[in-house]
Amino acid sequence: MNLMVKVYSYLIQIAFLLLSPCLTIAQDRILINSDFPGGNIEVLSIDHDTIRLKTDNSFTDGEWFYWYFSVSNITGQRITFEFEQENVYARYGPGYSLNNNQTWKWYGENRIKDNAFTFSFSDKDSIAYFSIAFPYVEKNLLSFLSTLKNHENLKVDTLCISPEGRAIHKLNIKTENGDPEYKILITARHHACEMMASYVLEGIITSILTDRNCTQLLENAEFMFVPFVDMDGVMNGEQGKNRIPRDHNRDYIDESIHHSTAALRNTVPEWSENKLRIVIDLHCPWIHSGINETIYVVGNSDPVIEKQQIIFSNLLEKNTTGDLKLYHKDFIPFGTSWNTADNYTKGRSFAKWAGTQKGVRLACTIEFPYANVSGIPVTRDGAREFGKAVAYSMVEYLNLSKEE
Ligand SMILES: [Zn+2]
Repeated sequence: MNLMVKVYSYLIQIAFLLLSPCLTIAQDRILINSDFPGGNIEVLSIDHDTIRLKTDNSFTDGEWFYWYFSVSNITGQRITFEFEQENVYARYGPGYSLNNNQTWKWYGENRIKDNAFTFSFSDKDSIAYFSIAFPYVEKNLLSFLSTLKNHENLKVDTLCISPEGRAIHKLNIKTENGDPEYKILITARHHACEMMASYVLEGIITSILTDRNCTQLLENAEFMFVPFVDMDGVMNGEQGKNRIPRDHNRDYIDESIHHSTAALRNTVPEWSENKLRIVIDLHCPWIHSGINETIYVVGNSDPVIEKQQIIFSNLLEKNTTGDLKLYHKDFIPFGTSWNTADNYTKGRSFAKWAGTQKGVRLACTIEFPYANVSGIPVTRDGAREFGKAVAYSMVEYLNLSKEE
């Protein structure tokens, strides 16, 4: 063989070696993907039909539990998904969605064994999505807003631009005469991973706009909603909670380090015109056990605000007529459970900052569980139904305030 032929043959061999693994992957290897909005996973190994996984805790101080991935090349296969760390499932196992990511269900309480679950895919299944719960990213919000296009007093605006160049949405609902008696501010996703809070927010907005029992709100109150305070975190699938050096819900002290929190601190005092009366921040607690499986209001360190929270918490109990009930007994006064000064050493929370704003009577954080409310599985509609209770309670709260 002359030198040229040798070199040519060698190059062909290298090309074959380089291409052959790719061909195998493309044909039949199970593919795990998290490269889509909200996606989060680290693949540790794929060994035949067993996949070892870990949550991606980038930018997070310690470990947190949020994960969301797709798996393809699954047709007719039985696959085991095994997490390296503990505490990555809520009460009813993983949320899952087959062949699209529109409809989500719980896989089931008894399907987890040694941090793993096994799923048998049918001959019709080509892709599946799994997550800690039922993901909610920008496309979910846009799809929700598209159902409200006919409501002219709902305006979609931008609070500010995120560090990665995304518009951080700000929604306004104005009164018809343009001269509101009150203003109300509601936020969600200060912690990016807390997706179930977004369905509650949908329920609140829908009730304000469409429920006859909330007409009073439309007539007298102007609203501002910020659905994704940590927009980049939501879209990148980051935990958000315990973000380094401090997360969005500890960023209301000194100079804010996050764009959206700084923008809220700038925008709200001017927008308020001293009419801001109610501020609600929607969260999800830890994933399971005890208080984390109840809906509850977090007591404010200011006793004057806390007194109003107790009134509101009782109204929420009265108005939660759906399956997912809030009981006022689960209210966590400041200084009890996790709600102590020690929990706020990294900075001031949004609700605490909001409580100091001129005219604000009620500032509160509501914690809404990922999966289980006192033994009842959380569904997306159940979360929206709870949102209705929040809207009804605002109506009653404002009426009570008038009487004082
Ligand atoms: Zn939170």
